[in-house]
Amino acid sequence: MKITIIGAGISGLTAAYYLNCLNKENNTDIELEIFEKSSRAGGNISTKTGKGFVIEEGADSFITSKPWAVELCRKLGIENKLISTNDSNRKTYISFDGKLNELPEGFFLMAPSNIEAFKKSLFFTDEGKKRILEEQSLEPRSDEEDESLESFVLRRFGTELLEKVAQPLIGGIYTGDPSKLSIKSILPEFVAMEQQYGSVIKGISEKYGLSKISKTESGARYGMFVSFSNGLSELTSAIIESIPDLKIHYNSAIEEVAKSENGWQLRTECGDKIETDALILAGPSYISSKLLINTDNTLASLLNEIKYESSIVVNLVFEKKNCPSFPEGFGVVIPKTENMNVIACSFSSHKFSNRAPDNYEIVRCFLGGAFHKNIMEFSNSQILNLVLKDLDTLFNIKSEPYSFDIYRYPDSMPQYNLGYSELLAKIKAEIKKYPLLALSGNAYGGVGIPDSIKSGKDAAHYIFQNLTN
Ligand SMILES: Cc1cc2nc3c(=O)[nH]c(=O)nc-3n(C[C@H](O)[C@H](O)[C@H](O)COP(=O)(O)OP(=O)(O)OC[C@H]3O[C@@H](n4cnc5c(N)ncnc54)[C@H](O)[C@@H]3O)c2cc1C
Repeated sequence: MKITIIGAGISGLTAAYYLNCLNKENNTDIELEIFEKSSRAGGNISTKTGKGFVIEEGADSFITSKPWAVELCRKLGIENKLISTNDSNRKTYISFDGKLNELPEGFFLMAPSNIEAFKKSLFFTDEGKKRILEEQSLEPRSDEEDESLESFVLRRFGTELLEKVAQPLIGGIYTGDPSKLSIKSILPEFVAMEQQYGSVIKGISEKYGLSKISKTESGARYGMFVSFSNGLSELTSAIIESIPDLKIHYNSAIEEVAKSENGWQLRTECGDKIETDALILAGPSYISSKLLINTDNTLASLLNEIKYESSIVVNLVFEKKNCPSFPEGFGVVIPKTENMNVIACSFSSHKFSNRAPDNYEIVRCFLGGAFHKNIMEFSNSQILNLVLKDLDTLFNIKSEPYSFDIYRYPDSMPQYNLGYSELLAKIKAEIKKYPLLALSGNAYGGVGIPDSIKSGKDAAHYIFQNLTN
């Protein structure tokens, strides 16, 4: 029996890992192979190391509150290699009106959990604070229609919170447009808190309690994020090493998949035809759509409805002697009202230990997303100039970087826009027609690494069960 996976990103690799485990546990004889378009595994995860630097070209950490990534590390025997972010630097800044502002202590994505600290904050105006705190006495919404992040935040907390926090922080995670992102698809716990406790602020303090949210923590809950001393590629390498019989065909894009008499047939770029019993499509949903177009137009059309945004990561290394030090903290997010090209930047060498030799700092800048679509057309030298200009505005840095790297991620971030949950339900119902076909990846239920891992694990169990029963 043969199972083929298309795409060697974290979800495809996870599917291979769990299939290998199931194969061994059940004494079955399953051959596993992966076709990967590029010359390496990992997809959006890629670490470059050398000369004492650990540079994350894509994702740089994962959240531990969603259990699937930590569970995978435990099974791989690498959980003890996980490293946490440096607690002493756990601060997120928001650039507003040309100044760097700290989020008040205990600010939880869009709502304060520490009211006293919030009241003292100089970041929000008195009027803004009053409106945000009024949230506690507003009636919960009775309508169950999908609602955008923007509408949810405006309704509960007002304009100031949307502009200063929700757009750059939450919209930034999804590189999305808050007027399009579906609140129930990206932050269902906030919708549930409104319904259950009558108020998000009450829900946060009653459900989680102040003690559960670190007193100094704010923003994107950085304290719950982990990586490895040699970067996130340690995870993808460990998966590959754990499956000695796994065949990964690099530089092998699949162009089409079709039902065959006993399973599925794949067509490679070069026109080769490959037979397999079962198939997991672990690439972006628009690629799965393209692969299936001649087999199932309905499913292909649904998959193509999930929209994506593009982004660029620029890692810059500065010699400390040449630039004033960056503020203590993990990073800065930049609202769209600031009219900059960089939408967020993180100080990699503050966030994790041993990312750079002592005399150097690494700054990771993000560009792109829903509000900066044209950035992908810019050349590398134009991008570098835009980044240096923004770094000068933000941190008064005039010096040239010691080195820099630019990585492009075209159409890499799925947008869980209004109607996403219903669309996903339709896709899941439609694919049930094919018991030996599964989808996995960040398009199907969660955009981060833990969710992508869950989706690879679920696909493995589903296919294994259907193939062996
Ligand atoms: C810049 C950036 C930073 C991020 N930072 C974080 C972070 O810090 N923490 C976090 O939790 N999440 C982060 N994310 C999100 C997270 O990295 C991704 O959701 C996750 O890695 C997606 O994994 P995946 O396997 O679904 O897809 P991908 O990583 O996109 O992998 C899909 C693979 O399929 C291959 N492929 C595509 N088409 C074909 C084809 N026709 N034939 C064969 N192979 C094909 C691709 O080459 C790729 O290797 C980030 C994403 C980006 C883009």
